[in-house]
Amino acid sequence: MYRLYINGEFKDSSEKERIINPATGEVVAEVAVASVRDAAAAIQAARNAFDKGPWAKLSFDERKAFLLKIAQGILDKAGELAKLETLNNGKPIKESTFMDIPSAAKTFEHFANNFAGYLQSERIDLSDSNAESKILREPLGVAVLIVPWNYPLLISCWKLAQALAAGNTVVLKPSSLTPLTALELAKIIHEVGLSYGVVNIINGSGTRIGEALCADKRVDLVSFTGSNEVGKQIIGYCAKYAKKLIMELGGKSANIVLKDADLEAAVNGSLCSIFLNQGQMCTAMSRIFVEDAIYDRFASEFVSKAKKIKLGPGMDYETQMGPLISKEQRDKVIGFIEKAKKEGTKLLCGGKIPEDPQFKNGFFLEPAVLTDVTPDMGIFKEEVFGPVACISRFVNLEEAIELANNSDFALAACIWTQNKTTAENLGKKINAGTIWVNTYGMFYNEVPYGGFKQSGFGKELGREGFWEYTRLKSLVIDKSKDAKPLVNYWYGF
Ligand code: NAD
Repeated sequence: MYRLYINGEFKDSSEKERIINPATGEVVAEVAVASVRDAAAAIQAARNAFDKGPWAKLSFDERKAFLLKIAQGILDKAGELAKLETLNNGKPIKESTFMDIPSAAKTFEHFANNFAGYLQSERIDLSDSNAESKILREPLGVAVLIVPWNYPLLISCWKLAQALAAGNTVVLKPSSLTPLTALELAKIIHEVGLSYGVVNIINGSGTRIGEALCADKRVDLVSFTGSNEVGKQIIGYCAKYAKKLIMELGGKSANIVLKDADLEAAVNGSLCSIFLNQGQMCTAMSRIFVEDAIYDRFASEFVSKAKKIKLGPGMDYETQMGPLISKEQRDKVIGFIEKAKKEGTKLLCGGKIPEDPQFKNGFFLEPAVLTDVTPDMGIFKEEVFGPVACISRFVNLEEAIELANNSDFALAACIWTQNKTTAENLGKKINAGTIWVNTYGMFYNEVPYGGFKQSGFGKELGREGFWEYTRLKSLVIDKSKDAKPLVNYWYGF
């Protein structure tokens, strides 16, 4: 039984919910569900910890020691956390073990080890004035962190590491579909001995406690990663008190394959870019644009490899694609495929619930490849968030740019070419926050990440991401020693 973590205590709640293993439909754990009162208690705890507690006043090095202990705590429990992430989310255990969990620990280490300098104040000499200015960089205060279900621990740790390193106190709300690793993290954080209320972690659906968390006057910042639709609701909740927001929303990313690409690398990379994590990635390259000269070879190799992807329960080390997160999500994805077929696309493979009886209680779906997709179709425009690749052809770079930029989203893109200059020139013309060349999905703690247009605003990671969790304050100091400052004489008294 997992409980809520509020003000340094693990608390029960009157309501509980069962967490389901998407590979089997079996119950993995029971979790306490926060009420609106619990949300308010968590905010108050974070508020008290920020206003009256030591956390924000500690030196960076003192905070650093705590962050490094959290990183170590994650590493000490890495095997257990990886298993739990896979049981809860369905992703292959290889991904949880080698990507999600170690990257989560690394993010804490990175912001602990490298960011002392980014909180320093700066003195500015005002040459034509008798004053000087000091720019202070301060924590914002209480941060509400809202996280989706596709990378439950990793995205929680991105937000927590940055917010805590900067000196904020937080209330973290994982997705109610995947709260387990965040609630395990609460135990690690408790053992590390952070003062009470610095970190509060509560499970509950967004419809139940989302507004209470975001609209509350005691909250200074909401950092949200999730869907476009919910992001816009949150912007609405935060409008009354004009809160600082970080919005990491959905995507409809473009994968551009040029005729001079290393074909094998481009096919394999493109498969990863849409089928990893069952296609449930904000940066999923759901629109693949291939140059005419290599289109047929690319499409035939892509389809033949997509058919070979091994479906299975995430806990099996041989599994390459696990189940989708829920039956609702699978129904939604199948709905997109059916609509696309009616709109005139051609389904080259997959898109079906596998017939093998071993999959019958899970939410599996065979990876789908569609062609003949045109910009007027729903499948071209809307985020599917599942294993559905759409391949289209282009004849020249101008057309590739036009197709890629023909989207309301602008989160990420991939370019496959052996010509570095072409890649850089093309990269400048693609409207997306992150552009990978001859690779996919490489996130670095050093590199700011975040989209444009309907993909949101604000950055996560890097120096700029860290600074999103801070505020700037300007002190202007009159330097007059002998004479009195000018304002003294203004009224002539
Ligand atoms: P979601 O928007 O349904 O939920 C995200 C979080 O918001 C969950 O914790 C949920 O409980 C909460 N929530 C739901 N309604 C709320 C409300 N009214 N008020 C406050 N919180 C509320 O998204 P999801 O289905 O969990 O995740 C998939 C989406 O997340 C996709 O659109 C994907 O592109 C996006 N995503 C974006 C990024 C990025 O970095 N840009 C990363 C991962 C996922």
